[in-house]
Amino acid sequence: MFQTFLDSLLSLTFPQACQICENSVENYADGVVCRGCWKRTRIFSGNEVLCAKCGAFLLEGKSVKTFCRLCDEHFYDRAKAVGIYEKALAAEVIELKKVPHLSRTLRELYYSAFENSDFHDADLLIPVPLSKKRRIERGFNQAEVLGKFLERKTKIKCDNKTLARTNHTPMHRAAMDRKAREMTVEKAFEVTRPNLVEGKNIVLIDDVFTSGATVSACAEILKKNGAVRVDVLTIARAV
Ligand SMILES: [Zn+2]
Ligand SMILES: [Zn+2]
Repeated sequence: MFQTFLDSLLSLTFPQACQICENSVENYADGVVCRGCWKRTRIFSGNEVLCAKCGAFLLEGKSVKTFCRLCDEHFYDRAKAVGIYEKALAAEVIELKKVPHLSRTLRELYYSAFENSDFHDADLLIPVPLSKKRRIERGFNQAEVLGKFLERKTKIKCDNKTLARTNHTPMHRAAMDRKAREMTVEKAFEVTRPNLVEGKNIVLIDDVFTSGATVSACAEILKKNGAVRVDVLTIARAV
């Protein structure tokens, strides 16, 4: 409903210039970039070798089960993204931090990434929470926009209350050793209603997967509270 309303509202400002190459965006469904820029964006198709756990892009070619090993200590089980954080996907991620709207092209790609994943038996979708301060500044959480969209498509419940940021203020980082820094990340999240995650398969939802430290910290606290499996679904994977 809200999505449809925004669609019609935003279509009034059409046509607009592509945010990457400044050609005209012919199709409203393509969001802030033109078709050509979408075509030049690497969308994962199965014809690339990705780390089977964190989804890191390793090389072009026939998909084989490989692990990058850099993610061995991460607490989530598997992370999947629509494609590489570049061109159209990067522009759409940046736009999503400004406007709580997903272009139709992005919606289709994000849903198809879910469809082609092994996450279908998930019990819950959980968007990575923003800090209270950031949430107030932005007015919305972009991960929640993705989570709510996926909830409508899949009928899997999107829960944006159970995982929260703590108000823990870290001490001066330079003064901390590695152990202390790890403890700070660990304490950045809390589970407010453990009974809702116990025994559940969860898909964490976020816009970008960068180092994986944030989703790993989320997965750790969810598993400490009894979650069985925690997977991650993002729009884009940084290289
Ligand atoms: Zn373009
Ligand atoms: Zn990996």
